[in-house]
Amino acid sequence: MELVATREAGLAKLREFVPRAGRAYAAERNLDRGLDDRTNVSGLSPWVRHRLVTERDIVESVLQRHSLDAASKFVQEVYWRTYWKGWLELRPSVWARYAASVEPAFAGLTAAELTNFEAAVTGTTGIDGFDAWATELVATGYLHNHARMWFASIWIFTLRLPWQLGADFFMRHLLDGDPASNTLSWRWVGGLQTVGKTYLATPQNIESATGGRFRPRGLATHAIALDEDSPAPAPIAAPQQGPIPGGRIALLLHEDDASVESLAPLLETSGAQVVAVAAPRSAESRSILSASSGLSGQRVDSSAEALPTSSLVASFTGGALADGLSRAGNHFAAEASALDGFDASDVLPWLRSHNVTALVTPYAPVGPVRDRLDRLSVDLAAEGITLSRVLRTWDSHAWPHAARGFFSFRERIPALVREQQLEGSRG
Ligand SMILES: Cc1cc2nc3c(=O)[nH]c(=O)nc-3n(C[C@H](O)[C@H](O)[C@H](O)COP(=O)(O)OP(=O)(O)OC[C@H]3O[C@@H](n4cnc5c(N)ncnc54)[C@H](O)[C@@H]3O)c2cc1C
Repeated sequence: MELVATREAGLAKLREFVPRAGRAYAAERNLDRGLDDRTNVSGLSPWVRHRLVTERDIVESVLQRHSLDAASKFVQEVYWRTYWKGWLELRPSVWARYAASVEPAFAGLTAAELTNFEAAVTGTTGIDGFDAWATELVATGYLHNHARMWFASIWIFTLRLPWQLGADFFMRHLLDGDPASNTLSWRWVGGLQTVGKTYLATPQNIESATGGRFRPRGLATHAIALDEDSPAPAPIAAPQQGPIPGGRIALLLHEDDASVESLAPLLETSGAQVVAVAAPRSAESRSILSASSGLSGQRVDSSAEALPTSSLVASFTGGALADGLSRAGNHFAAEASALDGFDASDVLPWLRSHNVTALVTPYAPVGPVRDRLDRLSVDLAAEGITLSRVLRTWDSHAWPHAARGFFSFRERIPALVREQQLEGSRG
């Protein structure tokens, strides 16, 4: 069943899940019971990916029903997302290095590896479980967290395929495909993220966590950490909110944040008046191989079916942008336009038609949207137009603490929750 990419549908899913976000989630979240029973997890990731529903919406609703103690596991999982985003924000070169490595990894596959790759992405390896997860991912755009871990581990250590190609396969098909959570989780499984520590999928764990549905044979019994040319760099400073222009502005929403109306209070403090809103299309750029124009020749022909971004992803992302645009247009009583892309040739005519020289956009974390906004910013500056980014306090408060491992970040969660004033409204 296709999911509805609107804030309203996401909030309905959140309301339905909240009663199960306490101790029941902590006890059962690791079980992958299959497609017919996902009640032990929230399934909210596609909506939060686009901030149709924000992390704040989720934690606030959960803490109206449960104490932080009872819901600590679920709240921590939501903060894992924030942590991965912060970690990558402080080390943008890790994304750049990944993005630059995907095409060479594909081009460098030997004939035998290409055969393995095609079997992996079409779910025809013969490995119990793995084939079902590949098929489920392509058919639904979702996998349980443990299925993602097992899949990545088998991809890297049993099929011995480059991790970057598995990460890109996920980005082509996951409705929640996210540059930080996905790239860094694949790195974590392969032993690059926590240096030397790998994740090994075992038949016993798969069998017990899937209620006996799968028991693969022939899996790797050792997971020796991958290595890379240079280790992750030292963290840079976390981003800070720059000045927001006052007066007439245009607002650009994008797939990383489709709830610009909740930025209104921040805009009001600078006296900004939103006269136009727009959203550029962008889902194709999420996967490096899908966005690539440099792949050509027989190699691609033979794998062509596996490479485009899935129609489910394109449709969910398109729906999220359409919903965000319509809500923003109504909220600001401004004309709402869909743009073909992020290039200055897409954006400038729209700005000129509204006679605006200040463009504001929600802050896009490290990833493809950010790369495009950075290029747009340079091109607009040459035309005398400023691009300003609005950073949510959720991110600006949390990201500075993501310089080290998750366990030190986790200690900060109660303080972060207090700063956001999310607790205490339990009735
Ligand atoms: C190899 C691999 C790749 C992954 N790729 C992505 C990705 O592209 N996008 C993505 O959103 N998540 C990714 N995850 C993390 C996690 O699997 C999903 O966020 C989670 O399964 C989403 O399902 P849910 O909404 O039912 O989660 P729930 O268990 O209900 O958790 C609630 C929310 O917390 C966040 N969350 C939960 N677990 C994690 C986690 N381990 N890391 C980060 N955030 C988490 C999500 O926003 C999720 O919606 C990946 C994990 C692995 C191991």
